[in-house]
Amino acid sequence: MTYRTVNPYTNEVVAEYPFATDDEMDAAIAAGHRRYVEMKTESLAHRSELLHAVAAKLREHEDELARICTVDMGKLIGESKGEVELCALIADWFADHAEGLLAPDAIDTIATGSARVLHHPLGVVVMVEPWNFPYYQIMRVFAPNYMVGNAMVLKHAANTPTSAKRFCEIVEEAGVPAGTLTNLFLSYDQVSKAIADTRVQGVALTGSERGGRAVAEAAGKQLKKTTMELGGMDPFIVLADADMADVNDIAWRVRLYNCGQVCTSSKRFIVADAVYDDFLEALRENFRRVAPGDPLDPATTLAPMNTAKARAKLQGQVDAALAAGGTLIEGDAPIDLSGQFMRPTILTDITPDNPAYRTEMFGPVASVYRVQDEDEAVALANDSPYGLGGIVFAGDPRHGAEVAARIETGMVFVNNFMASLPELPFGGVKMSGYGREMSRIGQMAFVNEQLVVTAPHSDLSNPAGGLVAA
Ligand code: NAP
Repeated sequence: MTYRTVNPYTNEVVAEYPFATDDEMDAAIAAGHRRYVEMKTESLAHRSELLHAVAAKLREHEDELARICTVDMGKLIGESKGEVELCALIADWFADHAEGLLAPDAIDTIATGSARVLHHPLGVVVMVEPWNFPYYQIMRVFAPNYMVGNAMVLKHAANTPTSAKRFCEIVEEAGVPAGTLTNLFLSYDQVSKAIADTRVQGVALTGSERGGRAVAEAAGKQLKKTTMELGGMDPFIVLADADMADVNDIAWRVRLYNCGQVCTSSKRFIVADAVYDDFLEALRENFRRVAPGDPLDPATTLAPMNTAKARAKLQGQVDAALAAGGTLIEGDAPIDLSGQFMRPTILTDITPDNPAYRTEMFGPVASVYRVQDEDEAVALANDSPYGLGGIVFAGDPRHGAEVAARIETGMVFVNNFMASLPELPFGGVKMSGYGREMSRIGQMAFVNEQLVVTAPHSDLSNPAGGLVAA
C-alpha cells in the first residue's frame, strides 16, 4: 500500500507520497496535544469565527478542490463541487450552533445544590477516512471536534492523498493553527501505534467492515472511545400506492450518484408486485441513458469507479451473483473507454443463498426484489447484516413513516432521497457500525460529559446523603 493519486479516467499516476515517519507521527500528536491544551483557554466565539473562515476558504477554492477530488477518485465534477459546498455548509452550521449545543445542561436532582453537565474536550482524536467523499468525510469529524476543542490527526485513504493534503492546507490557510488538524500518510501499523498513544483519546473511522474491525480492535485494546461509520445495503421500499413518477425519478439517481459508491446508496430495491414491472422498466431505461466519459467534463453523467481494484472486485461480485442463480436485467457489458468504468447493472432473482443477498456491492449495481405485501417488504429489508439507511415510498406519507419506523436502520427517509445535512444525525446499527456523526449527537461523540454538583454546604439530612454516610 502506498499513497498515490491515480486518475481513474486516464489511469495515469498523478502524484505519489511517502509514508510518514514515526517521528513525524509523534510530532503531530505532540502538536495536537499542545493545541488541545491551548484550546481550553480559547473562546468558542474565536473558533466559530475561524470555522466560518474555513467555510469561506472552501468556497473560494471550490473549483480547485473539485478538480483535485475528481482526479483523485473519479467522481463527476458537478458532484465534487457539491461536496465542497456541503463541507462549507457543515462548517457554517457547527460554527453557528456549537456554543448552544455545548452549553452546560442543568439536571433536576434531589441532591443538595445544583447539578450541571459540562461538555469538555477529550484530547487528540485520530480519524481514519475513506475515499468516496474525500472532503465531506473529514469535515463530519473536523467541524464538531474543532468546536469542542479536540485536535485531530487524519489518516485518509491511500487513493485520495491529494484531497486530504489540500483540505488540511485550506484549514490552515483559513487561520486555524497548525497542529489542530494534521494529515499524515500513515501505515496500518502506525494507526495502531497512534491509537495506543496516551494523548489520543478518541478514534473515528468511516469505511468498510474490514477496516472498522481492525481499527475498533486496536482501539478496544487501549480502551479508547470509537465511532464506526461502516457499510450499508440500504433498502428502497416501494409500496403499491407510491407515486411512481417520483419513484422512477429518484430510484436511478440514488443508485448511480457518486457512481454508486455511497454507503447510503439504495442497493436493494424492494418493490410491491403491483408496480414491479413499471419500476423495473423505468430503472432499466434510466440506467441506459447515462453517458460515460471524462468526469471533468460537465456533460458526462457516468463516472469511472475509483480504482481498478474496486472495479475488479465489483465485477467479481456480479459474476458470483449470476453464477449463484441471479438474473441479469441490464448492464454487465464493457464500456469502450480506458478508465475504470462499470456499466450500470440490474440484477433480480437474488435468493438468500446468493452471496449478493448479504454482500455490499459498492458501485453501480442494483438488486431488485418483488414482494407481495408490506410485511414481506419490511421482513426482507430487515433480513440484512447491515442497518445504515433506507427509503420508503408510500402514497400516504404518514403510513410511509409507520413503515419506516419498522426498519432496522439508523436513518430512513420517506418519499424522498436521503440527504446528509449537519443538523441530521448520521449513522447506523448492526454491521453498519455505531455512534453518530453530525447533529447534536455527533457534537457529543468525543466529549467529556462532566457532572458538577455544587452545594452551598454539606447536608447529611438529604436522602441522597445516606449513601455517602452509610
Ligand atoms: P476501507 O478499506 O475500510 O478504508 C477506509 C479507511 O480505513 C481508509 O483510510 C483505509 O486506509 C483505512 N483502513 C483500512 N484498513 C485499515 C487497518 N487495518 N488499519 C488502519 N486503517 C485501515 O473502506 P473502503 O472499502 O475503501 O470504503 C468503502 C466502505 O466505506 C464501504 O463499505 C462504505 O459503505 C463505507 N462507508 C461508510 C460510510 C458511513 O458513513 N457509514 C461512509 C462512506 C463509506 P487505506 O486506504 O490505506 O487502505
